[in-house]
Amino acid sequence: METDHKKKQSISKSKQYLVILLGILLFGGCLWFFSTYYEGEKPVLKLSETVDTIGREKIIDITATDKKRGLRKILVTISQNEKEHTLYSKDYPTRGIKEKTFRIEVNPKSMKLHDGEARINISAVDYSLRKNNTTLNIRVIIDTIPPHIYLLSSAHNINPGGSCIAIYNVSEEVVRSGVNVGDDFFPGYPIKLADKSCYIAYLALPLDAKRGSVSIGVVARDKAGNESLKILPRYIRNKKFRTDIINLTDSFLEQKMPEFQQMDNNLRAATPLETFQYINAQTRQDNFMTIQSICEKSVQKQLWQGHFLRMKKAATTAQFGDRRDYCYKGKTVSKSIHMGIDLASTRHSPVEASNSGVVVFTGYLGIYGDTIIIDHGFGLFSLYAHLGMIKVKEGQTVTKGELIGHTDTSGLAGGDHLHFSILVGGKFVNPQEWWDPHWIKDNVESKLAAVASSR
Ligand SMILES: [Zn+2]
Repeated sequence: METDHKKKQSISKSKQYLVILLGILLFGGCLWFFSTYYEGEKPVLKLSETVDTIGREKIIDITATDKKRGLRKILVTISQNEKEHTLYSKDYPTRGIKEKTFRIEVNPKSMKLHDGEARINISAVDYSLRKNNTTLNIRVIIDTIPPHIYLLSSAHNINPGGSCIAIYNVSEEVVRSGVNVGDDFFPGYPIKLADKSCYIAYLALPLDAKRGSVSIGVVARDKAGNESLKILPRYIRNKKFRTDIINLTDSFLEQKMPEFQQMDNNLRAATPLETFQYINAQTRQDNFMTIQSICEKSVQKQLWQGHFLRMKKAATTAQFGDRRDYCYKGKTVSKSIHMGIDLASTRHSPVEASNSGVVVFTGYLGIYGDTIIIDHGFGLFSLYAHLGMIKVKEGQTVTKGELIGHTDTSGLAGGDHLHFSILVGGKFVNPQEWWDPHWIKDNVESKLAAVASSR
């Protein structure tokens, strides 16, 4: 009897366990079912950029993500005055799309949207039984009118390899404006003339520019991306540049090339002549890229006053724009264009800041040797190369005529001299103009005064 009772007890206990186990399984199953099919994680919507204005055309990339059940539906619309246009609509008939990036194009004119406020609605629904939905409602301003450019300066007479300033104003707030000279862009900087705001751009003309061969125009772009262009009336003068033949001697190559070979592993096995050919082409180009990146940022203020100073008691030994043919044993082995002026005096002559500004570079710069670059504001820079001793530091403010270093033979210099360059917007220009008080008066000071008095 007792054994029977015990048996019965053990069976009922087993039943109890089974029920508990089934309960746990059922609970776990429900949990799994709900967390999988009935999950509550909403899709995520990301835009490639913040959109608050739309111009004549706007392209926006959107990424929709749903990590759990995946995307079911995406819909993008734009609405204005209760009229709605579909920009994108996609239904995914089967589950499994976790992420989708798509592009929408808004063209207000073809959609008959007018300038003013509109709303972009982006929604994504997922495959959860809950149909989780994420919606972004973005207020945008449609602005299809490009900025109007008012040209304030006149008489843009430019020499090939020379500089010029343009003064203009725009009808609305712009995110980018300046002057295009062919493919080169020279930024405009905000200034005040007679207490009124306008823009000034310093521009440079390439050496090979001929009358009519290069287009020059003021460009402006507003927040909505609308761009406008105004051709700059200009007169391009004729200018001829010299050709200079430089004979390379073995003593120059043997004396100068090891310094460069030491610094570049590619040149270890090269002959002195091969080394020269490499540095006169490749290193020259690399150094120019470095100079351009240094000159990319400039103080938004005119730090210079009056004409630039030319090194005292110095003879000009090479001009700006000289086309140089390098000859070795009667053969032309390399070419370059001289983008500065060489000034020679006695050894280790003092070098002065040609005008006031801020030192933005000091140090070794390949063919230029030990170099100083000074920012004079609005994209105007001066460069001093082949120095021996540098007396200033980066970030230091210098005044016109202040001692900044001494001449020497560092870099690709045959003898002790100063290589002096001026740059406008990262392009080398003829320093002769900036040394000339008459040129400064006619091309900068009078222009600024004429605009100021007409306002
Ligand atoms: Zn030079």
